[in-house]
Amino acid sequence: MLKGKTALITGSTSGIGLGIARQLASEGVDLVLNGFGDQAEIDRLLADIATEFKVKTSFHGADMSKPAEIRAMIAFAVEKLGRIDILVNNAGIQHTCAVDDFPDDRWDAIMAINLSANFHSIKAVLPHMKKNDWGRIINIASVHGLVGSVNKSAYVAAKHGVLGLTKVVALENARSNITCNAICPGWVLTPLVQKQIDDRAAREHCTADHAKMAMLSEKQPSCEFATPEQIGGIVLFLCSDSARQMQGACITADGGWTAQ
Ligand code: NAD
Repeated sequence: MLKGKTALITGSTSGIGLGIARQLASEGVDLVLNGFGDQAEIDRLLADIATEFKVKTSFHGADMSKPAEIRAMIAFAVEKLGRIDILVNNAGIQHTCAVDDFPDDRWDAIMAINLSANFHSIKAVLPHMKKNDWGRIINIASVHGLVGSVNKSAYVAAKHGVLGLTKVVALENARSNITCNAICPGWVLTPLVQKQIDDRAAREHCTADHAKMAMLSEKQPSCEFATPEQIGGIVLFLCSDSARQMQGACITADGGWTAQ
């Protein structure tokens, strides 16, 4: 169904972004990956995905907090792939702290990477999608785009912003063959969440396993983590014709977190 399509996935050297990249590759989608990490490991990752799924892979190391680098990455992806059919805005960071102590530079970084980067990449990719009259833009938001949690002011504000941006982009392109939707995961076990588990274990003098279960049982009724592959499966659905009329939607994958 998606064979021969092309995708750019931001923040895809790890965690959810990598799970999405692998799912798209499994359907025959050629990829440009992005993110930070050791260059030798990234090269190995690109080669492994290309061999396993017989797709083209390349990489651009744009820092998603820098609009000029985002524009350069979009131009690079168009040159490498011929066009960008699917854009997945996934790169994101976290910092937890009460609002009265929240460091200004962490606020600015979270706003830049988790919210403004989505604007800059969408702005740069839309003219190409319009030219081809086909596009799927998928923003990886969070349950924190729908509800709040203590100590996450910047993250919650940015993710609420992502859902607003998703709706406006969807409306502005509603009569074209371009859709824009968001996915709102609950807890997914990735390096971003592992840090919160380790911080909690240290703070509460308990094991990482205990901290993990405490975090799940507080928020996620299923008491199971979602997986990067499951989020990738939802991306495949949003790219399929079944999702053609989904415009500005947000799909939760949160084990019941926001059903409470
Ligand atoms: P992760 O830390 O495993 O991966 C983040 C990716 O973003 C990495 O590839 C990293 O290199 C990249 N990245 C970070 N800063 C960057 C920058 N300035 N420029 C380019 N790349 C950058 O995190 P994850 O848990 O996989 O999170 C991915 C997305 O999913 C984020 O937007 C996050 O907010 C969202 N999310 C995660 C969870 C969860 O429980 N893990 C839940 C809901 C939403």
